Amino acid sequence: MKIAVRHSLIVVAILGVVTSCVSLYVLTRLIATTSAQRSERVRDLVTQQLEFQRKAPAGAQPVDAPVALPPPKLGMRAGYLPKGVSVDAIRPELDPSARDLLARSVQVALSSADRSPVVQIAQDGDSGVVAGAALTPAGDLAWTAYPWNPPPWLRMFRALIVTLGLAGLALVVASVHIAVSMDRGATLLKQSLRTLGRNLDAPVPRPQVRELSEVGDGIAGLAAELRHAQQEQARLSRELADRERFASLGRVAAGVAHEVRNPLAAIKLRVDLLRMDPGVPSAVGAELGGVSEEIARLDRLVSDLLVITGRRTGPRTQTDLRKLADQRATTLEPWARDRGVSISIRGQAAACVDAEAIVRVIDNLVRNGVEASAQGGTVEVQVEPEGDGARLVVTDRGPGVDASRVDELFEPFFTTKPEGMGLGLALSKAIATAHGGKLTYRRQADMTLFELAIPGGEAAAP
Ligand code: ADP
Repeated sequence: MKIAVRHSLIVVAILGVVTSCVSLYVLTRLIATTSAQRSERVRDLVTQQLEFQRKAPAGAQPVDAPVALPPPKLGMRAGYLPKGVSVDAIRPELDPSARDLLARSVQVALSSADRSPVVQIAQDGDSGVVAGAALTPAGDLAWTAYPWNPPPWLRMFRALIVTLGLAGLALVVASVHIAVSMDRGATLLKQSLRTLGRNLDAPVPRPQVRELSEVGDGIAGLAAELRHAQQEQARLSRELADRERFASLGRVAAGVAHEVRNPLAAIKLRVDLLRMDPGVPSAVGAELGGVSEEIARLDRLVSDLLVITGRRTGPRTQTDLRKLADQRATTLEPWARDRGVSISIRGQAAACVDAEAIVRVIDNLVRNGVEASAQGGTVEVQVEPEGDGARLVVTDRGPGVDASRVDELFEPFFTTKPEGMGLGLALSKAIATAHGGKLTYRRQADMTLFELAIPGGEAAAP
């Protein structure tokens, strides 16, 4: 059977109230009974005292004689009043309430026909006084006054009653408060779970009750993990789609390479031989040179497509990346200078790579950087070791890639340049992946950074 916490708390509150009420009743009854018994006992003592005094031997008796029954009771006063002497003659004086009560008792004793003691009681809360008088056989008046005060434990009992009452009240208030907070928190979490079913980005409330708040934290953590898993799933689906696309592109490229490369090589060979023929006029030779370059470009395109789709590179050797970058900078510098852009290389690192493939990456990234830079700008290439591998960062201060197109950046044939092929970054990324590394793009302040990370060790093996 499932029991709601709020029901349990209500039961606790009811039990608490019942327990407090019963305890309060018992304690108040106890106090009332004790105080009644106390006044009765004092009354008995005063009566006994008067009986004793009345039977005491006749003779001159002092007005305030300590003739109490042994052992004398603390605070009890007794004595004899000769005929006609008023209560005011008692020295030291009685306190006003005791004196008035005694005066009344004396009055009654004097007017009473029988000589039995007249005992009267005056009670004020927990304290009081009992006073009595009786005519002695000698005609004097025996008197006794006995005030009593509340016992010391009474105050403690009263404090106990108040504490019990307050504790009962606090129990009820706390139970109701917890029940309401639990109920409210549980409702919030239930609503939040329903909302999260539709939207994992929905905020998760944190109820006031700590335990529920921890449950809220757990739900929020779970939602974050689910969200992450969803994103990962979307990424993997995209990657799968990419792979499928690349695979079909690869099949096309392989087919094209098979059908086109050999005839292309044969055409190029013939064109080059023809160019070298001394009988060919120089104007025709120049044209043939252009044809040969175009054939070489076509051949490169086919090889690039094969790398992009197959993600395979040549054999790897330990290579000084700084040297590689310096060489490429020297080659590209005249072209960059024409555009008013300089190239600077910094750092030092070596890695196990296919040097020819990495040269293509450096070329692509530096060319793109130079093309994106304004006149007077600098493209920086930073080479540095990272773990067992290396890192190569190419930075320019151009406008970067339009934020809405960043996702397409590494796709084959994505280009924003009129003359562009859109294969440079796709090829570079394929080379990075073939090395077990990564090529990433990011903007930092006003800088565009392309970072090539190449792991070392086994991961870099071909
Ligand atoms: P291409 O240079 O032939 O266009 P790439 O694959 O090298 O092909 O580049 C694809 C596109 O990425 C470019 O057309 C350009 O829009 C963008 N791009 C690459 N590098 C940069 C850069 N450093 N700054 C701004 N945009 C860049």
